[in-house]
Amino acid sequence: MGVFFFATSDKGQTQNQEIQSSQFVKQLKDNKIKDFAVQPSDGVYNISGKYREAQESTSDSSNLLFGNSKKTTKISSFKTNVLKNNSTISEITNYAKKNNINMNAKEADTNGGFWTNLLISIVPMIIILIFFFIMMNQAGGKNGGKGGIMGVGKSKAKPTHSDVKFSDVAGEEEEKQELVEVVEFLKNPKKYSKLGAKIPHGVLLEGPPGTGKTLLAKAVSGEAAVPFYSISGSDFVEMFVGVGASRVRDLFTQAKKDSPAIIFIDEIDAVGRKRGNGMGGGHDEREQTLNQLLVEMDGFSGNDGVIVIAATNRADVLDPALTRPGRFDRKVLVGQPDVRGREAILKVHAKNKPVADNVDLHEIAKQTPGFVGADLANLLNEAALLAARRNKDSIGPSELDEAEDRVIAGPAKKNKVVSKKEQNIVANHEAGHTIVGLVLNDARVVHKVTIVPRGRAGGYAIMLPREDQQLMSKKNAMEQLAGLMGGRTAEEIIFNSESSGASNDFEQATNLARAMVTQYGMSEKLGTVQLESPTQDPYARNYSEKTAATIDEEVRNFINEAHGEAHDIIESHREQHRAIADALIKYETLDEKQILSLYRTGKMPEENNETNENSSFEESKKELEKNDEEKENNDSNNQE
Ligand code: ADP
Ligand code: MG
Ligand code: ZN
Repeated sequence: MGVFFFATSDKGQTQNQEIQSSQFVKQLKDNKIKDFAVQPSDGVYNISGKYREAQESTSDSSNLLFGNSKKTTKISSFKTNVLKNNSTISEITNYAKKNNINMNAKEADTNGGFWTNLLISIVPMIIILIFFFIMMNQAGGKNGGKGGIMGVGKSKAKPTHSDVKFSDVAGEEEEKQELVEVVEFLKNPKKYSKLGAKIPHGVLLEGPPGTGKTLLAKAVSGEAAVPFYSISGSDFVEMFVGVGASRVRDLFTQAKKDSPAIIFIDEIDAVGRKRGNGMGGGHDEREQTLNQLLVEMDGFSGNDGVIVIAATNRADVLDPALTRPGRFDRKVLVGQPDVRGREAILKVHAKNKPVADNVDLHEIAKQTPGFVGADLANLLNEAALLAARRNKDSIGPSELDEAEDRVIAGPAKKNKVVSKKEQNIVANHEAGHTIVGLVLNDARVVHKVTIVPRGRAGGYAIMLPREDQQLMSKKNAMEQLAGLMGGRTAEEIIFNSESSGASNDFEQATNLARAMVTQYGMSEKLGTVQLESPTQDPYARNYSEKTAATIDEEVRNFINEAHGEAHDIIESHREQHRAIADALIKYETLDEKQILSLYRTGKMPEENNETNENSSFEESKKELEKNDEEKENNDSNNQE
């Protein structure tokens, strides 16, 4: 098999390749695609097309006979599929338009022949019948009953009683603290409404798939011991007109009757996308559903005792109406776990499995950067399966080792695991921001730095302003600029090269420098005039070409100055920079205390803070109260 595969694909001939939809969108954006065709098929769009120039694809193939080898294949055409009702569709249309790419639509993929014809003639009749029943059902009011076709407009959600507890959710201490209040309210809504306290109507959990959002929502319901109504956004999709909206209505009515209760809407992006975009029809239904959801959330009086928790991995595509006060006004970011988090999650899932004594879960946590909770649960499960197949009575290191390979080799994981080299670059980059931030600490303190990726950022440093700061002095602005340049500058010093990871820093730095020149009047050459206002259309400028050139020059001067300053600081703090970068590679996330200790002594603080890695509700509550006391400004500023 291996030999055959190797021989046929090694000649560098052109090939057709199955790619991921995200890759397709990227290539489309980069104008690499000549033309493509879209064909609807059940639930997805099949897309096939040709590249402008054949793409080279190199892959490592390990082969029993030839050992490891790299092979290069020329790919001239590709295939992929994207979900219907997905924002990628509008993204695709936009990029295709922008780059003038030929986009064809094909007829739906059907099998043709007798059955198709039969379906075509029968389906309309069925639809008419269904509508008839719906109308009957609604006219008949409550007597319609729930069973069979009469239940089409009824919510599918049946309440469950979750027995998940906070202690089952590992390594998400901050997330749990944010939810303590919600649990308290659900336990005793009267206490809160009596005092007129404002309770969040909705909580939005945002984070990548598998990070435990559903688990957290269940834990809230389990801790508060209230019914859990759960429905997924995709349940509303591709339904008959009006059904989605009536389901939402029904869901809320039921939950209010049953209050205190939780309504959990998974994948809310499927219904909650920004209105007024998308390709083709079908979004009327979605909009109606979304509108109904907004209406229901506005209809809360607070003492209804119902809290809506929604989950998404794309909060940026949500309709802004959803995140307005009184709706999903609280957002909880559920991030990828760091080493400690991963170890804690492994411990939770190892609890009910016979794991051999010589298994070191800490070591496994170290080997699995990029793994989320679901991957780790899967890892232990695979290992257990292997142990069973091998007739062992406990899970040993060899099973875990093999399971790790399997999970990594799984379809989506390949590019997720961060290579050691990349980790090293990101760690040095973030340590650069940190050092500059520490040295120039007049206005801001470094609060946290991490190399755990979030979104497009490979890592980030969070700086908090020292005081309620409204006005920015020129000195503050220059410090902030230097901080932004710190990442790339560190890369230059340590590796003598630049990675692409700093592009967002530059964008931020340029925007800031430009604002300094044109809005804050901080440039000596141009003086204290406001040339642009923050709200103005950037193309409608009211100054001459010459002024424009001076602005560009001044922006460049500010950035160069900041770059120089960052350079000096890192060069004169090489040891501290090294200590922080090394600690980042080892621990992935550092908090303020640890950063300061590394900066001052080169060592981590004494390990008395072996914090509860999966605390119970009571512990999370205490932690929250403690944090409330040292109430801080949470106006944060991230530097990627
Ligand atoms: P999401 O909803 O974010 O996609 P889920 O809550 O469905 O993720 O997580 C899938 C599974 O992964 C959970 O059922 C649980 O077994 C495991 N898991 C995820 N995060 C954690 C965690 N923090 N602690 C323990 N298990 C977790
Ligand atoms: Mg989920
Ligand atoms: Zn950066």
